[in-house]
Amino acid sequence: MASAAPAGIPASVVERLQAAAGAGGWIADPERITPYLIDQRKRYRGRTPLVLLPDTTAKVAAIVKACAETRTPLVPQGGNTGLVGGATPSERGDAVVVNLGRMNRIRALDTAAATVTAEAGCILASVQKAADDAGLLFPLSLGAEGSCQIGGNLATNAGGLQVLRYGSARALTLGLEVVLADGRVWDGLRGLYKDNTGYDLKQLFVGAEGTLGIITAAVLRLFPRPAQRVTALAAVADVDAAQTVLATMRAASGDRMNACEIMSERALGFAVKHAAKGAAPFAANHPWTLLLEFEAGAGDELRSVIENALGGLIDAGHVRDAVVAASTAQAQTMWHLRESIPGAQGREGGSIKHDIAVPQARMAEFVRSAEAAVTRALPGVRVCAFGHLGDGNLHYNLSQPVGMDEALFLAEWDRLARIVHDLTVAMGGSISAEHGIGQMKRDELVRIKPPVEIEMMRAVKRALDPDGIMNPGKVL
Ligand SMILES: Cc1cc2nc3c(=O)[nH]c(=O)nc-3n(C[C@H](O)[C@H](O)[C@H](O)COP(=O)(O)OP(=O)(O)OC[C@H]3O[C@@H](n4cnc5c(N)ncnc54)[C@H](O)[C@@H]3O)c2cc1C
Repeated sequence: MASAAPAGIPASVVERLQAAAGAGGWIADPERITPYLIDQRKRYRGRTPLVLLPDTTAKVAAIVKACAETRTPLVPQGGNTGLVGGATPSERGDAVVVNLGRMNRIRALDTAAATVTAEAGCILASVQKAADDAGLLFPLSLGAEGSCQIGGNLATNAGGLQVLRYGSARALTLGLEVVLADGRVWDGLRGLYKDNTGYDLKQLFVGAEGTLGIITAAVLRLFPRPAQRVTALAAVADVDAAQTVLATMRAASGDRMNACEIMSERALGFAVKHAAKGAAPFAANHPWTLLLEFEAGAGDELRSVIENALGGLIDAGHVRDAVVAASTAQAQTMWHLRESIPGAQGREGGSIKHDIAVPQARMAEFVRSAEAAVTRALPGVRVCAFGHLGDGNLHYNLSQPVGMDEALFLAEWDRLARIVHDLTVAMGGSISAEHGIGQMKRDELVRIKPPVEIEMMRAVKRALDPDGIMNPGKVL
């Protein structure tokens, strides 16, 4: 039965959208809608009278067509794990949420071509498993992989833990099926490795955060499943030494490094304290710890190559201490430390988060300058930096000074973010390495991007979504 429409969306439109989504394809009960309206970090809370849950591309197309004809804004949503409020509707209550979770079929897996065709609502971990079951690897991997969805991964151009070797979501995408802002379906599921027939349209939708169209399916690249995996921790004195380790180990392993994660002493300390029952990986504390992972096929002994190279770095004074995982369980313990940092930081009170990238050559300088600048701005602030050193991407997070009121600290978000972002941009970096813009960084984007880039982005938006119904208020 159709529900009553609140102010903002006429009842006739709500009824039409419910009919387009079909039986079981929508939620209008305010209590059941609530989880779809709050973002992962609980910074944003929106309103809507209607969450649509289509289970086919045809239904998505019918919904978008109805939205286009009635000028009803819509917010595409996947697993709702995004960190910039991109999947949260505004508080006006005039937009519908289109959640893709029921479009969760693997349409095809081609072992010869090493591709998988997955619908947008497939949970990332389920695509990894489908590849693994076929003896292959889908390398996109991130902390939220148990709940984020392929559509959301592509819409945010997700990065994660293995970008160094396999690239981000963009590099893994061979083809897309997209419902355009007028309800037409673009079938671009070609899955070709080479296709130079003009503009690479699929890449417009990757990283667009749902502002240009709704991704309903994708052809994704798969890789041979590695026969050997070696995981290690290496403690270093500073970021310069970390860079030396990155370059040396990459070369020594024959470029078989798939992850080079970095954890500051404070970040690792939080993880040890809150997530590892105090079990630290080394007898002493060190300013920085690297988590290194390497993969190889069958053949020469990767482990001895890694041990020898790390030994050389210890002898040369670049590494203070190192441990190579002796078992899968030990490797998992190492990854658990790294992946539990965000949650552990949350247990230390308020945190202000930045997701920055700077050129590798300036990473050490950035770390020094940023710490001095934020400490000058707010004495006692605790820098909790960690991230993907191999990709030049730091989560330059700040924890509140001990004893400071949390709300007062969080009120400093914009002031401290401006300091970190200005420094990032001055060094030729990016204020969003992998999380996107959403609503959180929209104003910052306009502040720091050259006007010509903003104008080009607006031109693309106008061309593909002239009425501005696709995820309004996000990115631009
Ligand atoms: C613990 C944790 C760890 C994380 N680690 C990482 C990390 O290492 N690297 C990283 O990059 N991110 C990370 N993230 C952020 C987040 O998981 C990613 O951004 C993820 O790709 C979002 O997917 P989602 O399905 O949850 O998308 P949502 O949060 O639902 O949506 C994100 C954006 O994509 C749009 N969107 C969603 N689905 C579609 C679709 N089908 N078509 C068009 N637009 C769509 C939404 O409108 C929104 O703008 C992490 C998050 C958490 C909670």
